[in-house]
Amino acid sequence: MNIPYLSLKSVTAMHMDEIINAVDGVARSGWYLQGKANATFERDYAAFIGTRHCIGCGNGLDALTLIFRAYKEMGAMQEGDEVIVPANTYIASILSITENRLTPVLVEPNPDTLQIDESRIEQAITSRTRAILIVHLYGRNAWTPRIETICQERQLKLIEDNAQAHGCFAPKKDANGNLFRTGAIGDAAAHSFYPGKNLGALGDAGAITTNDTELASFVRSMGNYGSSKKYEFRYEGKNSRLDELQAAVLSVKLKYLDMDNLRRKAIASFYYANINNAAIELPGRSQWAAAKPVDANGLTHGERCVYHIFPVLCAQRDHLRRHLASCGIDTMIHYPIPPHQQACFKAWNHLSLPITERIHASELSIPCNPTMTDEEAAWVCQSINSFQPAT
Ligand SMILES: *Cc1c(COP(=O)(O)O)cnc(C)c1O
Repeated sequence: MNIPYLSLKSVTAMHMDEIINAVDGVARSGWYLQGKANATFERDYAAFIGTRHCIGCGNGLDALTLIFRAYKEMGAMQEGDEVIVPANTYIASILSITENRLTPVLVEPNPDTLQIDESRIEQAITSRTRAILIVHLYGRNAWTPRIETICQERQLKLIEDNAQAHGCFAPKKDANGNLFRTGAIGDAAAHSFYPGKNLGALGDAGAITTNDTELASFVRSMGNYGSSKKYEFRYEGKNSRLDELQAAVLSVKLKYLDMDNLRRKAIASFYYANINNAAIELPGRSQWAAAKPVDANGLTHGERCVYHIFPVLCAQRDHLRRHLASCGIDTMIHYPIPPHQQACFKAWNHLSLPITERIHASELSIPCNPTMTDEEAAWVCQSINSFQPAT
């Protein structure tokens, strides 16, 4: 058997006719930016996430960067202010802070949830802290009631990096008893539609969601040259817009997102039930199990994880990776080098963040996506179970 980590060709093929139709419609319309496809996607994605506003932009990094830029223009943040961020995140979360000349303060994750450790946040807060950027890494909810309380008590903005968790639920209910989705619980959230994400475009794309009308109008203006009226520039903005083509493709794929995520959850459930090898650790699951009982298929529909990535931890990670390759299974590492050890962040290279470092040294991502078959998932389990660590 040959199992790719993720075949984008197969992902697109699931809805090929509809996608081609959408692209055809835009191409023939003669209108390629800031048109109907954007308006439709923004309306539908805001409704899906559960926020008042959605603003399309060029990519996920821009979505994050525009949020901080807007807060600076609004006077809520100034150069040199601090933003708390998990130390084990993807580099984009951190670059959005440094690009705005704000200072990232790296906080270790909880080794079981792999998300920012809420018990370490308060000791990282100073008089210059203005925001906490939580990252729903691997598609797992990172929000906790305690983080929200800290933000309220200290008057900090709560910003979500939802690049990996489209469609995920958070353990918080609205007035009608419905669970919030990630991307709707903080003051603002950034989404990336990079092709490999759960909701992926056929190229770069991103969006910001928020209930804050003032922030929404600042973000929209900052992403459109700092203008809200043609040829009048109020701010030194940038050009970060969502193409009509990508917006149209995203509208097609959004309809299937919950279903695709359910398939990911089914595969993940199968992994939790069948992977059994003392040399391999699976990240904790209890935090993501829904209150509702598991259904006949072993699925918890309110599960607070959409399995963008299925990480396993193994002290002999590289050996495990070679073993799986020999079984025909492609894997990835998210991520091989933690941000504080990257060459672009020399000033942090001396830092010691042992939990983050251990995750980066032992993490291996196994295939988990909606195009996988049951047979493929079974082969992944069997191959992992047959792994024998070197003594
Ligand atoms: C993918 C990703 C981003 C950046 O998205 P791009 O669209 O590639 O700019 C930001 N944060 C996280 C956690 C991501 O995984």
